[in-house]
Amino acid sequence: MVVIGEHRHTQVTVDLQAIKHNVEMEMARKDPLTELWAVVKANGYGHGILQVAQAAKQAGATGFCVAILDEALALRAAGFTEPILVLGITEPEYAPLIAEQRISVAVGSLDWLQTAEKILTANATPDPIHVHLALDTGMGRIGFQTPADLARTVTWLRAHTAQFDFEGIFTHFATADQSDDTYFTHQVNQWKRLIAAVGELPRYVHVSNSATSLWHQACNGNVVRFGVALYGLNPSGTALAAPYELAPALSLTAQLSFVKRLAKGQSVSYGATYTADRAEWVGTVPIGYADGYERRLQGFHVLVNGQYCEVIGRVCMDQLMVRLPAQVAVGTQVTLIGRDGDHEITLQDVADYCGTIHYEIACGLAPRVPRIYQD
Ligand SMILES: *Cc1c(COP(=O)(O)O)cnc(C)c1O
Repeated sequence: MVVIGEHRHTQVTVDLQAIKHNVEMEMARKDPLTELWAVVKANGYGHGILQVAQAAKQAGATGFCVAILDEALALRAAGFTEPILVLGITEPEYAPLIAEQRISVAVGSLDWLQTAEKILTANATPDPIHVHLALDTGMGRIGFQTPADLARTVTWLRAHTAQFDFEGIFTHFATADQSDDTYFTHQVNQWKRLIAAVGELPRYVHVSNSATSLWHQACNGNVVRFGVALYGLNPSGTALAAPYELAPALSLTAQLSFVKRLAKGQSVSYGATYTADRAEWVGTVPIGYADGYERRLQGFHVLVNGQYCEVIGRVCMDQLMVRLPAQVAVGTQVTLIGRDGDHEITLQDVADYCGTIHYEIACGLAPRVPRIYQD
């Protein structure tokens, strides 16, 4: 099989020790009965779902969260036997597959359960579906909003134990990464109001993404859904300090594919938006917006030999140009994200320049960039 990107010197390097460090640090802060489930959706936030899951498991994670059913199936196919929760709504037509593969699913309506029940019965599926009821306490995305709806559903679930295992209940906070906790407190109150309608609670009760786990103690439940901090990224960006040092796992490097001297007055890239105002050395880097290095990064910088070099001219689909401080050899390493010498370019720096969050940059790195793992 041809692996596209294998024969180009552009790569993401993932430090699995960093992933393990972040898991271990978080587990050390937790009550020993609280489980850590590693959130590995979106190809492990761009880092690689299977390798991240394995590292997190070695460091103590006892379950996984993903966004869509196929991600759960990929983990099962790779041999993971731990609980795997799909956080989004899965189409009920896949009910038999969900049951057969022992996937846990988020459910936000009685309708969903009733549709799935018909499909399970029609297919004579022998196994039950593991259900985590989603409570919408203010995220406004999925889940039950009223105690009455929730109570009705719980009663129905408990009358259908052949088809469903009511395994968990959860909510998701919208503002856990902010210092103002007004809205967070509002959600906690909604959670308490809803949860009171359930009676005996299921085995897994969970409310914490990374930010909630790092900065809030309220209604902690017994599972943490540990996502972005697993990768060493601060969920708040720079707003709040993490209680321990998060170790970033990802770096992005390439090698100069071409080096030339530009004469004064010569221009670079589409639109000729950059013109040299004196003679200078310019390097070409084999990466572009098709790799997830955004076009908006014109004017940002990379590191070459430990020095900042500006990205000049428009970022192309597959290549970009940088201004070099001096002539350097073709093949010299270029660090687009990561440390080189005394300087570091973080995912946060890239995100700030793009006017977005590091989550988006990390999971936007294209499959065309191979992931190399260091352990
Ligand atoms: C993505 C997600 C998480 C993980 O969030 P982080 O901010 O990455 O820790 C947790 N819970 C739900 C419901 C999610 O969608």
